[in-house]
Amino acid sequence: MELTFKEFLRGGKEQLSAAGFPEVDAEHLLAHVLGISRMELHNPLAVENAITAIGDITLIEENFWKLLDRRIAHEPLQYLTGIAYFRYLELEVGPGVLVPRPESELLVEAVLKNIEGRTGAVSVVDLGAGSGALTLAIATEAPQTHVIAVEKDPEAVFWLRKNVALISEDVRILECDVADALEGVKCDVVIANPPYVPDGQELPRDVAEHEPAVALYGGSTGMEIPQRFIVAAARLLKSGGFFAIEHHESQPVSIAASLAEEFIDIENHKDLLGRPRFTTGTRR
Ligand code: GLN
Repeated sequence: MELTFKEFLRGGKEQLSAAGFPEVDAEHLLAHVLGISRMELHNPLAVENAITAIGDITLIEENFWKLLDRRIAHEPLQYLTGIAYFRYLELEVGPGVLVPRPESELLVEAVLKNIEGRTGAVSVVDLGAGSGALTLAIATEAPQTHVIAVEKDPEAVFWLRKNVALISEDVRILECDVADALEGVKCDVVIANPPYVPDGQELPRDVAEHEPAVALYGGSTGMEIPQRFIVAAARLLKSGGFFAIEHHESQPVSIAASLAEEFIDIENHKDLLGRPRFTTGTRR
């Protein structure tokens, strides 16, 4: 039994790498079919128990190959397993919501550092919250916060509600456009990962063919929608409030220029590959 399992895992890896995909995706997919973690794949007892529980190795193999075929057809891994890892969280994701990206973890880091320097309860608004990755990372890692997640896309809100229910019910969800959100309200921190890809830009097939365009494209220069998020952030923040916005690697200068009038201490931050990825500033 054990040998068969190892053989088809190896076969899956070979097929993925021949098609130009990371081999490790085979481990994620097989673990998903077995209902165990990727670590447990290396534990023969856990594997045997999972196979016994399912009771039919042929069925396991069939489901594994079906998922491999879908992966090779460029469906994002996280849509196939239904799970995306972000900082300490496991988020539920699927078609209709952007898969959280590792680069956004660094934005969370910068925001947490700012929150640490504040006393008492801290009010945070996440504009364009998507699956809730940023919102929930901050709500769980900085329990002194009250986080409001604003999202207008009903398909994204479906996943946002799920994740809030699973991870932190203290988060408040507002289903509306950022321009209409929270009129008359002032908060301490605003975070945003708006759609910022310039409309014509070619994206990897996984992204372009499967992830929601509404979460990706920011207008002809990619700045049109981020600009609206900046207006909303300036309206929502108290004087001394902190803003962090993710952006395209081509946009650090335009973002800084947009912020200049109403923000001070404007600072650009790079992602793990050294590209300008997000900007922070303090409301005047
Ligand atoms: N960084 C994302 C990508 O990989 C884009 C996310 C966004 O537009 N907010 O395509």
